[in-house]
Amino acid sequence: MSIDRARLRWNGWGWVDHPDPTAASPDIWARIAEAFGMEALPSTPAKRLEEVDLPRPRLSPDVLSRLESEARGAKISTDAFERAMHARGRSYHDLLHLRAGNLEFAPDAVVYPAGAEDVAHILSLTSENNIAVVPFGGGSSVVGGVTSKSGAGQSGVISLDMTRMHRLLSVDRIAMTATIEAGIYGPQLEEALGSHGLTLGHYPQSFEFSTLGGWIAARGAGQQSNRYGKAEKWFVSARLASPTGPWSTENFPASAAGPRLGDLIVGSEGIVGVITDATVKVHSKPEVKDYRGYLFKTFADGISAIRQMAQHGVPTAMMRLSDADETWFFQAFSTSPSSSSSAFTSIAKRYLALKGFDDRPSLFILGLEGDRETIDYARHRSGTIIKANGGFHLGTGPGDRWYHSRFSAPFMRDPMMDHGLGVDTLETATQWSNLEKLYSAVRDALREAIAGTMPSPGMRGVVLAHVSHSYTDGASLYFTFIFPRNLTQELDQWRTIKATASEAIATNGGTISHHHGVGEDHLPWLRAEKGEIAMRTLAAIKRELDPKGILNPGKLLPSA
Ligand SMILES: Cc1cc2nc3c(=O)[nH]c(=O)nc-3n(C[C@H](O)[C@H](O)[C@H](O)COP(=O)(O)OP(=O)(O)OC[C@H]3O[C@@H](n4cnc5c(N)ncnc54)[C@H](O)[C@@H]3O)c2cc1C
Repeated sequence: MSIDRARLRWNGWGWVDHPDPTAASPDIWARIAEAFGMEALPSTPAKRLEEVDLPRPRLSPDVLSRLESEARGAKISTDAFERAMHARGRSYHDLLHLRAGNLEFAPDAVVYPAGAEDVAHILSLTSENNIAVVPFGGGSSVVGGVTSKSGAGQSGVISLDMTRMHRLLSVDRIAMTATIEAGIYGPQLEEALGSHGLTLGHYPQSFEFSTLGGWIAARGAGQQSNRYGKAEKWFVSARLASPTGPWSTENFPASAAGPRLGDLIVGSEGIVGVITDATVKVHSKPEVKDYRGYLFKTFADGISAIRQMAQHGVPTAMMRLSDADETWFFQAFSTSPSSSSSAFTSIAKRYLALKGFDDRPSLFILGLEGDRETIDYARHRSGTIIKANGGFHLGTGPGDRWYHSRFSAPFMRDPMMDHGLGVDTLETATQWSNLEKLYSAVRDALREAIAGTMPSPGMRGVVLAHVSHSYTDGASLYFTFIFPRNLTQELDQWRTIKATASEAIATNGGTISHHHGVGEDHLPWLRAEKGEIAMRTLAAIKRELDPKGILNPGKLLPSA
């Protein structure tokens, strides 16, 4: 195993002993209570594992002993901690269940294969015995992608944890590709490639606790996707173990031999097979990383600048534009002594007022990575476009601070949930021509839904948004919303907010997901987005590769 599982939180984010990021700001809770209209924040600790009842394991001793003898390299666990840790992913919705000790869907066993042969044996045995298998990488899904559920009539469920399969198998320095086992975590993957002077450059915010297989299966995006691409861009080919048999997908740089069927694997969410290893495009480690901050007078000005840079082919690694509320919120509640926006809190504020900025600007972080010559060109070209759109240069300070804390925000979620607050995120994408309309519709829908679910009058939530991944034809929008939890009906509260926002996305021309995937949570909106024929085609592919429907039932497609 590349990470010691016992050191991970079974019902939260990251390491058990990760320091509480709020400890450095003792007054933060009083300030948060005031901002959310709460007299005081309640204490809402999570249940401890010892207080929780797990369902009785359903696998027979015969099945367990056959697993041991046939998948010889695999480790099998029916231990309470392992079952609890693999019960669900790490969305806000998952955490509501996990923290309340609702482990109705814990797997009957957790199986860690050591190689592709073990995976094939496990799929053969589980098919024969009609046992569901949930492929599990880091378990960081935020769409209900790894909820350990069996389908109707199935006699149990196994969580197939891939993280013992973490070897770098080969590097082709001429083609600039690498073949890597799917269960490797982000840091180990970058370390292995780094020893060859290479990088994949896929850094989702969940980088430390997610795996290559999960990135591909969920069709994810790293923060620097403008340079390194989303999973579908850097994915070359994979070896897939399916109940029907092994499938090694085509790996040509291009081909006209019919549709590129291997692309089906990117976004397949574990429902057609288990990715055992994948070949991916790699890059030389960048010579220079240049991250800086800018302010725009309005969100719309910033959007216009990003669109122009994307359409003029300015080689950026990341363009991240916060709306006015997000800009304000992170400045007001940063736990870092020098917040990313403190650059415009005092002296700069007066100067900016003279330049026509009010107190609701939009913060833009521009990240450039590559060789010196490319960075020089990109800085010059982006500088011209940003200036033409009224952007104000804040220097490298905000960019460096963003870069160094780029994986930190998720560690705030557990302490916030301990204080009666809900924190959730969702994301979408649309064409440039529709971006501002979609932004307003989803933001307003979220605000309204949150206001309608407040536990007491006077309480309020916040809705924050940013544009992150951008393309020549459009971009993604990412929303974070924080709100007082309605403690007597918190699942209903989440359902109402989620459904309202998802409806707003669907009816205003957005995709139900730009990079989190579908899982269970987005399934009700998928049919409308894809269409009847596409859904039947997907179901037919699933039937071919997984005739008994044992793989990840109920994700991406309704359970049979
Ligand atoms: C705090 C936080 C921040 C996040 N930030 C980002 C972000 O910036 N960008 C982003 O794209 N996502 C983000 N996510 C979502 C999540 O991290 C991604 O979806 C990630 O790709 C999942 O990887 P994983 O290894 O944890 O997969 P898991 O959660 O274990 O699985 C995800 C899906 O992939 C399937 N799967 C996993 N491994 C395999 C395999 N080997 N073969 C077949 N199927 C498999 C599972 O069955 C499931 O359907 C974030 C999540 C959290 C909690």
